[in-house]
Amino acid sequence: MAEYRAPTRDMLFMLNEVLDADRIRSLPGYDDYDPDTVSAVLDEAARFAGEVLSPLNRSGDTEGVKWSADGVTPAAGFGAAYQQYVEGGWNGLTGSADHGGMGMPRVLGAAATEMWNAANMSFALCPLLTASAVEALENHGSDALKQTYLDKLVTGEWTGCMDLTEPQAGSDLAQVRTKAEPDGDAYRLFGQKIYITWGEHDMADNIIHFVLARLPDAPAGVKGISLFLVPKFILDADGNPGEHNDLACASIEHKLGIHACPTCTMSFGENGKGALGYLVGEENKGLAHMFTMMNAARHAMGLQGLGIADRAYQHALDYARERQQGGRAIVEHADVKRMLLTMRSQTDVLRALCLDSAAAMDVAERSDNEEDRAAAQARADVLIPVVKAWGTELGVDIANTGIQIHGGMGFVEETGAAQYLRDARIAPIYEGTNGIQAIDLVGRKLIRDEGRGMRALIADIRATADGRAEGANEHPALSKALDLLEQATDTLLEAGRDAAMANAFNYLMLCGTVFGGWYAARIADVAKAALDDNTDETDFYEARQACARFYVRQILPKAQGYAAMVAGGPEAVDSVDAARHL
Ligand SMILES: Cc1cc2nc3c(=O)[nH]c(=O)nc-3n(C[C@H](O)[C@H](O)[C@H](O)COP(=O)(O)OP(=O)(O)OC[C@H]3O[C@@H](n4cnc5c(N)ncnc54)[C@H](O)[C@@H]3O)c2cc1C
Repeated sequence: MAEYRAPTRDMLFMLNEVLDADRIRSLPGYDDYDPDTVSAVLDEAARFAGEVLSPLNRSGDTEGVKWSADGVTPAAGFGAAYQQYVEGGWNGLTGSADHGGMGMPRVLGAAATEMWNAANMSFALCPLLTASAVEALENHGSDALKQTYLDKLVTGEWTGCMDLTEPQAGSDLAQVRTKAEPDGDAYRLFGQKIYITWGEHDMADNIIHFVLARLPDAPAGVKGISLFLVPKFILDADGNPGEHNDLACASIEHKLGIHACPTCTMSFGENGKGALGYLVGEENKGLAHMFTMMNAARHAMGLQGLGIADRAYQHALDYARERQQGGRAIVEHADVKRMLLTMRSQTDVLRALCLDSAAAMDVAERSDNEEDRAAAQARADVLIPVVKAWGTELGVDIANTGIQIHGGMGFVEETGAAQYLRDARIAPIYEGTNGIQAIDLVGRKLIRDEGRGMRALIADIRATADGRAEGANEHPALSKALDLLEQATDTLLEAGRDAAMANAFNYLMLCGTVFGGWYAARIADVAKAALDDNTDETDFYEARQACARFYVRQILPKAQGYAAMVAGGPEAVDSVDAARHL
């Protein structure tokens, strides 16, 4: 199986030509974000992804992880790769320089994260969860907790994980039952968490769990949940990992995909002492604290969809070039070309969406202009549920199409194409199912916001559609699709929250499809300008133009279907009595 070839040229195209790199460079603290640095970082990341992570993808899938009462052993090579990852400084790429990080913007971190996920999604999940832990600690931890734990998490010497889910508390975290009993300045935790990604392993000297639990007198529901930092090894007086805390991995799941990533059932307080933990942020504000880091975590899920999509495309393309049928390589057959273009054109626009939304988060965090910060935050808030849900739906669809291109060989594990689909399938489920993302988009980001953030975005897309470059045929189709999005937006705003829910997912898919059209139009404009300018990379820019054209003509028309579903109203769903009709 060919190893992963990171799409460095495509990333540079998006970062430097399609998106506004100067805007990021002008943010306080990001003057290092110059084209040379960006290019050097991406080249090195590409090497690490291709040479270290990618070769472990297939072996990790077949070998899986091993559980014993003493802990969890990752697949061969993962521990050494993780050491290299930490020593190379990759874990700290976007981490604060004050805590041992490189202080690079999120937009560059997003490009690197795409590579880790494409090369080896199971591996990539470990630093991805540590990044969430860093966000939680940075935003809500006391100075003492930050001083003790943040440096090691930023560098990756210790890994982090998020312990939210319990058997009865999945999408509905109000049902969390894990208890936290005060013990001096600290707490003792008792309870069980399930599905904890990289909750146990031996690749790092300590694992820092961020656990949702209830204090004894906490109010019921979401307003009674607090967040705790619970180390696997309690630190000794010198700050080094010492005694094993009263927590254990009771078992690991046997899953459809991401076989090399341990998904752990964690028990806290089984030995009777209770797991020693420390409050992060305020009592009973645990869920609210989690929300502040949700955008970054959900964005990272979109990058998983993107990474897998690109990897599946590369694999399918290699196969299509070699496999001969009907007297020629199958890549020459129109239907196979259609499938490859379906994969590639959507991957291009998804990459633009992922990087653009990461840039919005950078501006929201760093700009010294309050109005810019607020506008960028509103933009990120609208884009993120779409990045997560549309991006991960595409990851599954594209991996699925990759199997089809392989014909019968796609169904055979040994080819490797099936692994991408198996791995991709989790991403629409975790970190808030895609149904929950749709509720977030329509309930909070659209209706509660009275449509302000969405209308600002529609206005920006309209500006692209109206600024019709000569010969840019993609723009009229974008205008029409945008009209449909505008109508659907009005329909849901008029319907109100309850009536809007039946079509929330269709609306989210409409948004993704139309946003994709926006990026396709911008890609087409940039490519055309380069070609008009007699670029010496003719093939590259012609390919970008061809993919953008394909997207607008063969994918964007799906907007009509989603818009029609929204226009059809909620009756087809709401009139059904779940008890009697299903
Ligand atoms: C491999 C893997 C790794 C994971 N990693 C972690 C981790 O590291 N940490 C962690 O805490 N959790 C983790 N999870 C848990 C994951 O986040 C949950 O599985 C997910 O949030 C869904 O919860 P659930 O499985 O209980 O499904 P449920 O909440 O029971 O949902 C089932 C279905 O009902 C729908 N649904 C539920 N509520 C509503 C509603 N109000 N409105 C409309 N539809 C609704 C859902 O969209 C879904 O389709 C992981 C799960 C897996 C499988």
